[in-house]
Amino acid sequence: MSDDAKPKKKLAIISCMDTRLVNFLSEKLGIDRGDAKVIKNAGNMIMDDTLRSLVVAIYLLDVDKIMVVGHTDCGMKSVDVNDVKNKMLERGANPYFTPNLEQWLGKIDSEEDNIIKGVDLIKNHPAIPKNMDVRGYILDIDTGSLNQLC
Ligand SMILES: [Zn+2]
Repeated sequence: MSDDAKPKKKLAIISCMDTRLVNFLSEKLGIDRGDAKVIKNAGNMIMDDTLRSLVVAIYLLDVDKIMVVGHTDCGMKSVDVNDVKNKMLERGANPYFTPNLEQWLGKIDSEEDNIIKGVDLIKNHPAIPKNMDVRGYILDIDTGSLNQLC
């Protein structure tokens, strides 16, 4: 792997896939091409795949700082799990897949709590070194102001 693949700021950012964050997040964080690893999913959840990406970022790409950046008005708070389930069934999804849908989809109750929980999960995960700088922030989706939560 070329050294160009290593993030100049030694930073990994976990954020949400929200369309309003495209370009906006990097602009507000002052992140340019080559600066950081950006891992996105619905609701900036810390799951096995997120941790897999973090392990690569930390051990192979020299990342030593992690920012979990959630945002206000996240769709994963208002997601109607039953509506998703009904639409899945209507379109032929296997009904045996849906019993744990709420957990699997990752519906959140609070954007702030979800960010704090995510930081906690990373800090306490057995694969993550103890000397990592892990912080949680919430971005105001309208104004772009960034507040540190933990
Ligand atoms: Zn979101």
